[in-house]
Amino acid sequence: MPKSKVVILGGGFGGLFTALELGGSADVTLVSDQDHFVFTPMLYEYLSGEVEAWHIAPQYSELLDDKVKFVQGKVAAVDFDAQSVARENHADKLSYDVLVLAVGGITNYAGVEGAEEFSVPFRKIEHADDLRKRMVDALDHIPPEMPPQDVRRELTFAVVGAGASGCELSTKMADLLYDAFERRNLHGEPRVLVIEMGDRVVPGMGDQIRDFVDDALHKSRVEVHTLTRVVKVTADGLTYEHNGTQEHLKTSAAVWTGGVRMNPLVEALNVEKTNRGLLVVKPTLQLTSHDNVFTLGDIAYFAGAAPVLAGTAQLSFQQASLAANNIKALLSGKELRSKHFEELGEAISLGTERAAVLTGGKAFGGALARQARFALYTSRLPTWHHRLRVGASWFFEGTTPRPLLPLGFER
Ligand SMILES: Cc1cc2nc3c(=O)[nH]c(=O)nc-3n(C[C@H](O)[C@H](O)[C@H](O)COP(=O)(O)OP(=O)(O)OC[C@H]3O[C@@H](n4cnc5c(N)ncnc54)[C@H](O)[C@@H]3O)c2cc1C
Repeated sequence: MPKSKVVILGGGFGGLFTALELGGSADVTLVSDQDHFVFTPMLYEYLSGEVEAWHIAPQYSELLDDKVKFVQGKVAAVDFDAQSVARENHADKLSYDVLVLAVGGITNYAGVEGAEEFSVPFRKIEHADDLRKRMVDALDHIPPEMPPQDVRRELTFAVVGAGASGCELSTKMADLLYDAFERRNLHGEPRVLVIEMGDRVVPGMGDQIRDFVDDALHKSRVEVHTLTRVVKVTADGLTYEHNGTQEHLKTSAAVWTGGVRMNPLVEALNVEKTNRGLLVVKPTLQLTSHDNVFTLGDIAYFAGAAPVLAGTAQLSFQQASLAANNIKALLSGKELRSKHFEELGEAISLGTERAAVLTGGKAFGGALARQARFALYTSRLPTWHHRLRVGASWFFEGTTPRPLLPLGFER
């Protein structure tokens, strides 16, 4: 008997971990548009050089053995009736018996004029590379004799959105820029702003963590602008509105961490969705209309999860296990199960020297939390082999940030 064909779309937290758990029990194919996974919670550390690409963005060829076939390609359409998947620039289609949809979200520019064209998104390795290059480039253009007020204007970076991502990123950027200032003997200081339309930073997190975030933003000298809305982004900066007054700010880069929206592939699917466009799934993670289609991660509305988990890696990662077990049950005619997912804790990186961790209802911060976060994330990386290699590298070679050196010296 040939094995049933399971095709998994998207090689992120939901798709990759489902594939790893399912490999061997079916004919499993993982399809993703990139050739590597990204452990997004540490993309900030990649920007600062505390970790390297191979640590947090390993190639699928390194992670998958011959139990899972990897196909690189951008999925253009899914045909539920024909049970097939079409990829961009490929005439042949991939057929499936069971499909897993795990293509995640994309950056939400919320219709702000110029945001998609001119701001830097921060979801992928190449986005972090682009941002680091812009920081180096801006520093390289400051002559040592430039007066402080001009330096501050020329070295202004804005991060849009003060959710966890915006706060993690802005503190990391500020620490890197201040460090570069000292190393290059520049006058004055750089300026890093985080702009948030709500009335507080990290609105989705509890007060215990917020206290550490507020403190870190202050220590890293990040300017916090709440109740401020970005209305336009241009090639040289952005316009924001506060208390009914608009102001244009010249920036070296405006980074957009303002939210996540639905993947266009999902938008095109004619199945039951919430009013936000999320795919409604049964407690077993099956689509309500198709028992052979499982959906998880950022694109799924799953009632059995604590609301704070929506749109998190920790939910996708936990759902992957449920999806893999239920697919095995479906293929062997057994009963499918459900699970309630609770928050495993929170960990947030705050600059290059600190972090904050919330576990068991208790929050702690500082350098110890930074160490704890590295240890925690080592255990969450895919595959034992990769965890061991990375854990050894972090332990023996260290996780010191890589300074922003002049372009010719950057690697
Ligand atoms: C910078 C950053 C930091 C984050 N930090 C945290 C954190 O600390 N803790 C936490 O819990 N969550 C964090 N998140 C959120 C977390 O990354 C997501 O919730 C999680 O990745 C969602 O998993 P997923 O499997 O649904 O999608 P993803 O992990 O986004 O995976 C989707 C995959 O599908 C691929 N794909 C997309 N479209 C197509 C297509 N058409 N064809 C083929 N492949 C496609 C993508 O390239 C990607 O590999 C962070 C996100 C970002 C961007």
